[in-house]
Amino acid sequence: MPGFELFGAEEKKEVNDVLETGIYMRYGFDGPRKGIWKAKELEQALCERFNVKYAQLTSSGTTALTTAMAALGIGAGDEVIMPTFTFVASFEAVLSVGATPVLVDIDDTLTLDPSAVKAAITPRTKAVMPVHMCGAMADLDALVAICEEHRLLLLEDACQSTGATYKGRALGSIGHAGTFSFDFVKTITCAEGGAIITNDKDVYTKADAYSDHGHDHLGGADRGADDHPHLGFNFRISELHAAVGLAQIRKLDRFLAILRNNKEIVKATLETIPGVTFRRIPDPEGDSATHLSFFLPDEDKARAATKAIKAAGLPAFHWFDNNWHYFRKWNHLKEGATLSPFAAPLAKALDAYKTKQFPASDALISRCISFPIALSWTDEEVRERAEKLASAIKSVL
Ligand SMILES: *Cc1c(COP(=O)(O)O)cnc(C)c1O
Repeated sequence: MPGFELFGAEEKKEVNDVLETGIYMRYGFDGPRKGIWKAKELEQALCERFNVKYAQLTSSGTTALTTAMAALGIGAGDEVIMPTFTFVASFEAVLSVGATPVLVDIDDTLTLDPSAVKAAITPRTKAVMPVHMCGAMADLDALVAICEEHRLLLLEDACQSTGATYKGRALGSIGHAGTFSFDFVKTITCAEGGAIITNDKDVYTKADAYSDHGHDHLGGADRGADDHPHLGFNFRISELHAAVGLAQIRKLDRFLAILRNNKEIVKATLETIPGVTFRRIPDPEGDSATHLSFFLPDEDKARAATKAIKAAGLPAFHWFDNNWHYFRKWNHLKEGATLSPFAAPLAKALDAYKTKQFPASDALISRCISFPIALSWTDEEVRERAEKLASAIKSVL
């Protein structure tokens, strides 16, 4: 699955360039850094690889989402429509700007159900945030149409789908802004890091300043001469992290080719099993193939299959029982368990989650298993694992 599996000389070389100069910060120190600007170079590489005008690196995917929300002007009183199936960072970012996360059902794409999005729109809705889960995309044509009709912002959480495309365009580049995560388990990694991509100059300019205490970066070599057009935070990436990412993005196409090849082998094996159906992928060609996600006939069989797969020494995610990715186990969110109190209207809006049910999402996630696709396996190892996976599933059907 992740870039850390194929780590080597390329990453070491890029990091060594930074160690040689001793300038670990991405801004300033123009003389001593001797022309080494890894963060700027990685931003340029992101623009070229994903065909967007602007990219802003941050310290994580979570801070990329927070920064994107701020740059899009999302804040107190605004509702952001997002799915019940995602990583906790998606709603953390909404809450971090004081906005209200409005969770809605997913469909068999494992991403936002466009009809659930429509039904959730209110006069306070400001943005729709699809999350391109497990390597593949939401139904973007439908979501773009809804956003255009209702004049809503579209913010793509593409943190799990770096390199995936929809009808030839990079995920993250289709909405008003999109975000990637380069944490340690993502498709390419900086160890920790994230990015916002956009074609909107205003969104970029704000993201650039917001992620560095509001610095407008117009003061030249003297950071003290920068102005502060608005407030910000420190969500900067370091040069050391950016250096790792620079080596990794150059390998992205190789990673995608391996993932797609390996996934194909596993999928072909599971296709022969009656009772196994697959996640719907709106544009199969654009799948980054980090996971093979499939459905079993019911919850009990999915649970039993997960146990059998793990007993066979293979990884499997049954998201229904997972603490991090599905609404059912987000007790901290349901209880509004915050350390710093929310504004009263937000606290009141979150109260609804104490009792809220999502039967349509439950019906899908309870039956769904995702099998992570590895980068480091040989074709023979993939075949052997696919056979083991198939036997484990058959043993419970
Ligand atoms: C990983 C992830 C994030 C956050 O990324 P970090 O870099 O770990 O902060 C956000 N959204 C989704 C869907 C993710 O999987």
